[in-house]
Amino acid sequence: MNKPSNAANKNFIGDSTNAVHGGTAREKGFHAMTTPIVQSATYTFTDTAELIEFLDKKVYGGDLDREEYARYGNPSTWSVEARIAQLEGADDAVVYPSGMSAVTSLFLTVLRPDTHVIMTDDCYRRTRQFCETTLKKFGVDTSIVAMGDYDALEAAIVPRKTRFIFTETPTNPYLRVADLRRLVQLGKQYRVMTLLDTTFATPVNLKPLEYGIDFVMHSATKYFGGHNDVLGGVIAGDAGRIKALKDARGIFGNVIDPHQAFLLERGLKTLALRVRHQNDAAQRVAQFLEAHHKIERVYYPGLPSHPDHEIAKAQMRGFGGVVSFEVAGDIKSTSDFIDRLRIPYIAPSLGGTESLIEQPAYFSYYDLSSEERLAIGIKDNLVRFALGIEDPEDIIADLEASLDKAPSASRGFQAR
Ligand SMILES: *Cc1c(COP(=O)(O)O)cnc(C)c1O
Repeated sequence: MNKPSNAANKNFIGDSTNAVHGGTAREKGFHAMTTPIVQSATYTFTDTAELIEFLDKKVYGGDLDREEYARYGNPSTWSVEARIAQLEGADDAVVYPSGMSAVTSLFLTVLRPDTHVIMTDDCYRRTRQFCETTLKKFGVDTSIVAMGDYDALEAAIVPRKTRFIFTETPTNPYLRVADLRRLVQLGKQYRVMTLLDTTFATPVNLKPLEYGIDFVMHSATKYFGGHNDVLGGVIAGDAGRIKALKDARGIFGNVIDPHQAFLLERGLKTLALRVRHQNDAAQRVAQFLEAHHKIERVYYPGLPSHPDHEIAKAQMRGFGGVVSFEVAGDIKSTSDFIDRLRIPYIAPSLGGTESLIEQPAYFSYYDLSSEERLAIGIKDNLVRFALGIEDPEDIIADLEASLDKAPSASRGFQAR
């Protein structure tokens, strides 16, 4: 069961206006400013005539303007979906209880046995795990190609078998940026669907559907929710494809509850404000770190030293709120540097109001040896800093104070 796409709704120019007003009807229940949380598992019909009127629309097509059963949706879900669609410039969007739920549902809905998926090597580790284990069980092969190697990507395409090219932008932890025009061109040439996880960018910085990407997905747990207090996932795209996903969700049963949708919608209202602040703060932090003699290397697409700076500059409106860097020293001096910081919490995730910091050698790859980690490009002294909305002056002072106490750089690095 689906609400129709939100094509009839007003579309505004700016991300903040769309984030606050986009997609939703002005009249809401109880004259409430916010979308009321309807905490109900099922919905009632006054009499059989009303039921038949509803079923006619559901079965033969029509504007479904009421609820039926909460597994098929609730007012908060419809409202937040319409708003996200407007922000992405999509026909429609579908929300899920987590980002992983979004990507696994998409693959399970769209893929058949004896098909093939291509993903880039720095995709979210759990997504890759899902492809290499669960999808494999159902007869779907996965190829992994190096991010940024478009010749390898083209060579990996098996005509009539490959269904998806899947990548992220920017990626974790090196913030690589995919060239969307090349992806879309390959997709069109070989009739392969393109799926882009733009959790790190948000529609404030990048709207992939404008380039012709087929599906955009987000972990809404990150910037969309924005307050480190709710999980969520979303996929946006054209009306027919999103309708198929919503129908499948009604069968899989992976729906979000009204309160979760309410929190997402509330977070979304300040998305553009937060992301613009985080863009600006991350750029300043990246520049500060790059100039610091106890930092070996900084990865941020807003820096000319980043391998994808030119494509990021051409494609993105801002470079996002995550900065990765390598501290001069080993695994221990790096964790000591982290432990001395006063502002960022040591935690996985990103995109919320509080700054979070992690050392990927520990967080994502504790099960691997130092050598195994190096083989996949994760150095022991790598740090990922996901900026919150704190003032950049305080964050930089915090970093500076901790670096002051760090051992001096070896290998020819000179103290200033
Ligand atoms: C967090 C994350 C996911 C997974 O989302 P959950 O909401 O944690 O399930 C997927 N992709 C990226 C890029 C992420 O950062």
